[in-house]
Amino acid sequence: MSFADLGLIPELLKAVEDAGYSDPTPIQSQAIPVVLEGRDVMGGAQTGTGKTAGFTLPLLNKISRWASTSTSPARHPVRALILTPTRELAVQVHEAVQTYAKYLPIRTVCLYGGVDIRPQIEDLRRGVEVVVATPGRLLDHIEQRSITLGQVEIVVLDEADRMLDMGFIPDIRRILALLPKQRQSLLFSATFSEEIKRLADTMLRDPQLIEV
Ligand code: AMP
Repeated sequence: MSFADLGLIPELLKAVEDAGYSDPTPIQSQAIPVVLEGRDVMGGAQTGTGKTAGFTLPLLNKISRWASTSTSPARHPVRALILTPTRELAVQVHEAVQTYAKYLPIRTVCLYGGVDIRPQIEDLRRGVEVVVATPGRLLDHIEQRSITLGQVEIVVLDEADRMLDMGFIPDIRRILALLPKQRQSLLFSATFSEEIKRLADTMLRDPQLIEV
């Protein structure tokens, strides 16, 4: 199985080639077609398995349709939201998003706390399709009305078990409640405790279970 067999657009295949990847990892060959089909996913995968590309590549493929080259902020609503438990992970995932989106007219931003919020507000004002965020800072932006999430088509919860350990599940539920009901949702976790399963039950619709 090669990346070209998975149904990704040429702009993404080129970026993957530039990154030096020859073949998809098991989580990638399983998750990419399922996400492209539009299904929800419950993914069991540790870091190091290539899960970031496993959700980022089909996510970018999906929102590349209707991507606008217009400079008008209104033409660049937030269409994909990726939530991570820590600033370090947010930065790492955002770097991956930028790497894979390099041939696409897609704008991205990384939102995390502990830094001045104003440059983030400026970025959001220009319009961004992909937001990578930690829950607390995202809620700050929601409260300040610097972000609207009413046009989100796909949401990813990365490292849900660490979100749980850090006490972020109530924040996550508040954020999920603001998203359109008609959307695609992906949840990744290294372990599936009862609490994670309960969250999955409220977040996901008929998910495909993928475990590597
Ligand atoms: P992750 O599990 O998403 O944190 O990815 C772990 C590392 O694997 C990252 O440094 C990626 O750049 C790299 N990687 C992801 N997919 C592939 C692939 N198909 N082939 C080789 N390396 C990859």
